[in-house]
Amino acid sequence: MARFLSISSGSNGNCYYIGDERTALIVDAGVGFRTVKSRLAGAGVDIASVEMIFVTHDHVDHIRGLASVAQRLSVPVYATARLHDALSRRKAVGPDIGGSRRVLRPGFETEMRGVRCLTFEVPHDATQTLGYRLDFFGTRFVFMTDLGKVPDYAYEICAGADYLIIESNYDLDMLMGGPYPPDLKSRIVSDCGHLSNESCAAAVRRLWHPGLRGIFLCHISKDNNTPALAYDATLRSLESMGLSVPADLRLVSLPRSEVFSMEF
Ligand SMILES: [Zn+2]
Ligand SMILES: [Zn+2]
Repeated sequence: MARFLSISSGSNGNCYYIGDERTALIVDAGVGFRTVKSRLAGAGVDIASVEMIFVTHDHVDHIRGLASVAQRLSVPVYATARLHDALSRRKAVGPDIGGSRRVLRPGFETEMRGVRCLTFEVPHDATQTLGYRLDFFGTRFVFMTDLGKVPDYAYEICAGADYLIIESNYDLDMLMGGPYPPDLKSRIVSDCGHLSNESCAAAVRRLWHPGLRGIFLCHISKDNNTPALAYDATLRSLESMGLSVPADLRLVSLPRSEVFSMEF
């Protein structure tokens, strides 16, 4: 049985799982080994089945548990050379994943353990931030978490996606009326910050194609958003195209700290 699990999503830590009896992988390890292990176990998955880790970028909410997870599992960690260099300088990771380091090149498709992987850059204020297209034995997942803007080329890369995991970080009114200092607000709304509900909804309108089976809204801010606002913005976008949820496709606001599970 193939499963997609959201283990943690948001500034508290990001970690996603795709796997079945053939192989399993995680995207980001923003929570520690014990949390990943216990949340996977709660969903009936043995963490020992995880054979690959893909890293999106070097912000701490994506790598907090990377060293511990990579070391305990002793599995390859995939990122670009530039991102690996930045990771090895980060306190949260350090040089500890040296032996697990595997280098990806943006724009070049590779295959590992039957999973086809294409990584691509997205604009965000980390050293380098990566989106991932992962073809898991015929089912295509696209991950775009932490980005200020969906770049034009990403629309082509996303063509044919079965499932899209995309950030819907903030509601503009909540952010602007909220307690964050002005420089942090400008950082978040910039093209190198995060996607608002409206930008996510607009991107979804362009990303949609008849084969798309599900959209998972990730990295929803605790302070500047609610799962319902994020959901409604993208729902309106889909409905304006004559689509209905869930008859035509699934739409889910991923929880921050609980596991979300889907069989595919
Ligand atoms: Zn993040
Ligand atoms: Zn980030």
